[in-house]
Amino acid sequence: MDLSAYIRDIEDFPKPGVVFKDITPLLKDPKALKAATELLLHYTANMRVDKVVGVDSRGFIFAPLLAQKMGAGFIPVRKPGKLPFNTLSESYELEYGQEILEIHSDAIEKGDKVLVHDDVLATGGTAKAVCKLVERLGGEVVQCNFLIHLTFLQGAEKLNGYPIKSLLRY
Ligand code: 5GP
Repeated sequence: MDLSAYIRDIEDFPKPGVVFKDITPLLKDPKALKAATELLLHYTANMRVDKVVGVDSRGFIFAPLLAQKMGAGFIPVRKPGKLPFNTLSESYELEYGQEILEIHSDAIEKGDKVLVHDDVLATGGTAKAVCKLVERLGGEVVQCNFLIHLTFLQGAEKLNGYPIKSLLRY
């Protein structure tokens, strides 16, 4: 199944000059949704994964689906001020300004094997910050997987050392 047929380019979103990869056509189609889930699961077949960390907000779509199928727990990493319990936070640079992500301080046990999932890998800043949060809590990132990898933004270089998998590369 050609999943790229279910990704829509939106020009000038969320700001002028950006071409945004819209995954909602894939989510809407039952066969594409199932195929994408199964392919992502395939990437961690035979691997021990204790927790699947999903990134606010489109990482929340597949991460719990994967966690449930893998017999793992789901952990949300969120934008600041959204998590109710004690948090650790990690900030990272964006093209303009800074972004902050938070995780609950009790989300990961020491030695947990962790899969990090998000919809898109662009510059890699987001995923790198998530990996740091996982490691600060004593977890081990066993893979970062994505629906889409925008290779021209060099995110893989920033995630150097972490195994990366993606369904579609542009
Ligand atoms: P990065 O930190 O790698 O530059 O950006 C990745 C984050 O931005 C992800 O959380 C992702 O959801 C979002 N993102 C960046 N570009 C796109 C895009 O074209 N489409 C979608 N769906 N998300 C994007």
